[in-house]
Amino acid sequence: MAAIAVIGAGIAGLTVTAELAALGHAVALFDKSRGPGGRCATRRSAVGAFDHGAPGFSATTAAFRAQVAAWRHAGWICAGNEGHAVATGEAPQHSTPSSIYGVPSMNALAGQIEARLPAAVTLHTGSQVTAIEPESEGEGWQLRLSDGIAHAARFDAIVVAVPAEQAAMLLAPDAAQAEAMRHTCSDPCWTVMAAWAAQPLPPVLDASLSSDAHSVLLTALRDDLRQGRTHEAGVASRWVLHATPQWTVEHLDAPAETVIAELLLALARQLGTALEPPLHAVAHRWRYAQVRAPRSEPFGWHAALRLGSCGDAWHAHGDLGSTPPDGIERAWLSGHALAQQMHQTL
Ligand SMILES: Cc1cc2nc3c(=O)[nH]c(=O)nc-3n(C[C@H](O)[C@H](O)[C@H](O)COP(=O)(O)OP(=O)(O)OC[C@H]3O[C@@H](n4cnc5c(N)ncnc54)[C@H](O)[C@@H]3O)c2cc1C
Repeated sequence: MAAIAVIGAGIAGLTVTAELAALGHAVALFDKSRGPGGRCATRRSAVGAFDHGAPGFSATTAAFRAQVAAWRHAGWICAGNEGHAVATGEAPQHSTPSSIYGVPSMNALAGQIEARLPAAVTLHTGSQVTAIEPESEGEGWQLRLSDGIAHAARFDAIVVAVPAEQAAMLLAPDAAQAEAMRHTCSDPCWTVMAAWAAQPLPPVLDASLSSDAHSVLLTALRDDLRQGRTHEAGVASRWVLHATPQWTVEHLDAPAETVIAELLLALARQLGTALEPPLHAVAHRWRYAQVRAPRSEPFGWHAALRLGSCGDAWHAHGDLGSTPPDGIERAWLSGHALAQQMHQTL
């Protein structure tokens, strides 16, 4: 049994943690946020919750399909447009391949995985790791946290499961993995969460609104129509709008009010109707939303150092002949594959 630290409790970190712990290893999971999930994120508000990170995901590989089937059986996810039919009885106008989503929210899926981690796993939230350092005596590793103090425990092996741009710094002890992450880049994404009190708006679900790379909106989602969502009194519809990568790059430092105004204008244009002032409108900027060109290797692993990395920056290829996996599937595949490799090596 090895003592392992996993840094990052997104889908990749949760997957590698669950599998290593099930194989008998003692795993400590660190995340800088208040809870697990990473970009499987849900923002709560007075008008209801918004899935403002990944709106959903797809499953293209046999291994991930088997996992998705288990999640679906447990009632943690909903596939396709079944939630829409339950919520409204109306037919949605569009659907995208990323049509599997968490119930009652994307972040709840991460919460369910976390809740079933073996008791031997220790979860440290609000713990930002700033460096991975060799133990002063012995052959293990120690973690330095953002308060400057080294975490008391020593570890036989470390897994870095954070976005590539942030992983590069933590992976400094292995120049090859650090370099690989430095050359992986992610697109940013401006996201607007908006709610209307009364205006009837079409039941667009997962709408891929444009194929024009120069336009403003990438997707618009009626979050309130999904299965398991709460319905607040006085709120008629809740939308999550994602800007295109190009528009986001061009407006990266724009004030939130400008972003909200531009995305609402774009939504009105797409729907062909003037919009009343929303009841609620908040913008969130994802600096690293989706990896542009993931690496072909399934994960990073230095056997002598016992230092690995996984996440959506890895595992670009799916099963032979299948569509390349998207972010959440890559994160899961990568964590799954690294756990198996580590168990063999350790
Ligand atoms: C707007 C948006 C839309 C998306 N749309 C889709 C989609 O349609 N389909 C799809 O499949 N995917 C989509 N994605 C991408 C998908 O969300 C990610 O690919 C996936 O969630 C990545 O999981 P991960 O575990 O690799 O990383 P993350 O989810 O980013 O998890 C990393 C974790 O590490 C933590 N962390 C970071 N640095 C540190 C540190 N120093 N110390 C401790 N903890 C740290 C973070 O808090 C985070 O919890 C979208 C993402 C966004 C933002």
